[in-house]
Amino acid sequence: MTLTETTPADPATVRDLRALPKGHLHLHMEAAMRPATLVAMSDALGIEPPPVDTFRGFTAFIESYRGLLAALDHPDHLGILMDQIFADQAAQGVAYLELGVSPHFYAERYGSYDAALAEMLDLARSASATHGVAFGFMPTIDRMAGLEPALEVARSAARFAGEGVVSLGLAADERGFPCADFAEPFAIGRAAGLQSTPHAGELVGPESVREALDALGADRILHGVRAVEAPALVAELAERGIPLDVCPTSNVLLDVVAEIGEHPLTYLLEQGVRCSINADDPILFGPDILAEYELCRTSLGLSDEQLAACAWTSIETTLAPADVKAAAKAGIDR
Ligand SMILES: [Zn+2]
Repeated sequence: MTLTETTPADPATVRDLRALPKGHLHLHMEAAMRPATLVAMSDALGIEPPPVDTFRGFTAFIESYRGLLAALDHPDHLGILMDQIFADQAAQGVAYLELGVSPHFYAERYGSYDAALAEMLDLARSASATHGVAFGFMPTIDRMAGLEPALEVARSAARFAGEGVVSLGLAADERGFPCADFAEPFAIGRAAGLQSTPHAGELVGPESVREALDALGADRILHGVRAVEAPALVAELAERGIPLDVCPTSNVLLDVVAEIGEHPLTYLLEQGVRCSINADDPILFGPDILAEYELCRTSLGLSDEQLAACAWTSIETTLAPADVKAAAKAGIDR
């Protein structure tokens, strides 16, 4: 984990972002693995760890992700990963973690989608208690895997609604796999009281954000930054208070924006769109959530007030328990 940017000089006027309570709402479980853990786990299984810092573009990204999954193919490894994820979030001032999990990757190993989700929830409860970070799960549909697995994920997520599962996600390549194809699983999620939290407006433009709102009833949108290509849509997001769970470095490395200085986060905030700041896939992209906050301060020029607003958005717009929200609000106000 590297902090490539230096903190501005005057410590008397600059707030410590580590101390800012924040929610981490856009983090995929496997890609939250520490680099050293990937090597150690791969060694233990006698396999070659995938390259995690040499790719660029979405196809290479999917390849690297397969290597992360291979490293977890051992009965002990999921528990080690979960414990380290919560430890790392605690160290960065994360008060609430909404972790993206993919039960379909583990359904065969544990016997069913429900069994896989139950096992991951047990591990997360234990890690949450150890490290003092509240959590909710976002079981995430792989949009490239077809409708039947999507329905399985949605039904399983719905069965654990209120027991650790808070939202239903949709990830992987938007191109050729539009949001509207997944209206049925998202109807199941919403009927169970889960927030609808699809990826959209990342690899496809504003029409994908439009679909996420209309076909999936999105409560929050992961990425969503390409809404800026349609000003009326930006105005609608602001007016309806639909938050975007933004990941600046991910957007640069997957060619959604040309360079960090061109990232539209500042513009979105100025237009009144609520945004949170997140790491997405830190083992592949580099920065953890604290480094992303620092990057927004140093490269995008976000003020302490804007950073605090993003932190509050990342707590307030979720289904985190009321006591977690109240404690975070007090900490942010301080
Ligand atoms: Zn993502």
